[in-house]
Amino acid sequence: MTVTVRFAPSPTGHIHIGNARTALFNWLFALKHQGRFILRFDDTDAARSKQEYADQIQRDLHWLGIHPDVIAHQSARFDTYAAAVERLKGAGLLYQCWETAEELERRRRLRLSRKLPPVYGREALKLTDEQKAAYEAEGRRPHWRYLLPNFTDNPFETQRTEIVWDDVVRGPQTVDLSSMSDPVLVREDGTYPYTLPSVVDDIDLGISHVIRGDDHVANTGVQIALFRALDAEPPAFGHHNLLTTADGEGLSKRSGALSIRSLAEDGIEPMAVASLAVLIGTSESVTAVRSLEELAERFEPKATSKSASKFDPTELVALNKVLLHATPFADVDQRLHGFGITGPKAEPFWLAVRANIEKLADCASWWQIVTEGPRKVEFDEADGSFLRVAFDHLPSEPWDGMTWKIWTDRLKEQTGRKGKQLFMPLRLALTGLDRGPELADLLPIIGREETLARRPG
Ligand code: GLU
Repeated sequence: MTVTVRFAPSPTGHIHIGNARTALFNWLFALKHQGRFILRFDDTDAARSKQEYADQIQRDLHWLGIHPDVIAHQSARFDTYAAAVERLKGAGLLYQCWETAEELERRRRLRLSRKLPPVYGREALKLTDEQKAAYEAEGRRPHWRYLLPNFTDNPFETQRTEIVWDDVVRGPQTVDLSSMSDPVLVREDGTYPYTLPSVVDDIDLGISHVIRGDDHVANTGVQIALFRALDAEPPAFGHHNLLTTADGEGLSKRSGALSIRSLAEDGIEPMAVASLAVLIGTSESVTAVRSLEELAERFEPKATSKSASKFDPTELVALNKVLLHATPFADVDQRLHGFGITGPKAEPFWLAVRANIEKLADCASWWQIVTEGPRKVEFDEADGSFLRVAFDHLPSEPWDGMTWKIWTDRLKEQTGRKGKQLFMPLRLALTGLDRGPELADLLPIIGREETLARRPG
């Protein structure tokens, strides 16, 4: 069996790190099993779905290193859903209901007050043809519910009906269909909630594994029943825990908080996002992993915790630093061009500064310092005269990694200064800053002539 997974966002906002977790769980699962990955846009809600969000989701996935094999749109498949509805109606598994939201709420409260489970009582099944005709005459349109297979002969006598599956993430799961309301599959305006289209698509697209957030566990009970009602073998299911903010709030596509796009714009590396999105809330420690292939090796769905995980964005910056510090020049060469960092000095420059940056963009100011000079620093009398002596004793060219040591050894002898007293004025004169990359590395990049130009007058 070819493993086929799908990531199924609704294009109603920007995807965030929690959505990235779902996408990556699927992508890594496919990578591990040489499977296929389908991006399915759940865009049945025409009012809220937007092309610009769909485009951005594709860009975000691409940025993370996820390249779907197939892209599908639910909005192009309404005929298929209508055919499935007809099939279910033909099998007597869909029935018309006319209740308004207020009526349903009233009944729900009544059931609760009678200590009955607050599920839909299938009252619509008792309507006579006259009553239905009367509703129609009033201009009311019915919605359609799926008659859950949780009874033997009498739908008003439900009995415990277990749907069980071995969850790819959570292990053995059981959902009791008698604890649930018959779900609405077609709304009164003819639109479809997510439940049925998803099953129809998963059948047609040959999905072998549905991996999604654990907010869908109860849906899975209903959907497995629907697969069977449509004579299809249900796929395997996996439900991962959700991420929350530090305050325990759920992440929302609409708020734009922690969107993948904003993290990218903020200079966070894709593998920092992927490492945290996948490893947080698992028994694996969160470390900066360099590639999705390596992450796939570390990815073990069953190691995922069952409770929600708090997500701390500052961890992203820490991971970012670790990743950048170990990034070879070839991997950033092109991106450095974007900051004007080109030419023969670009590689030694990168190797000198990479251990001192949090974000790639931090390179730009270092490049400016190295190539154009530092901001002006005022020195007191003692440091000023020390520096003048120092610059008068610059080693001759060629300059390399040893030049700094030769120079400072000479200065120790010459001036008696050592430690911070020796190094700090030099650092300030050369870079304008009191911390930064190793001066031994920077010095040959700056070059003798440019260094001399930094001699305080
Ligand atoms: N559009 C659904 C969601 O974002 C997809 C759930 C699923 O993967 O089945 O919640």
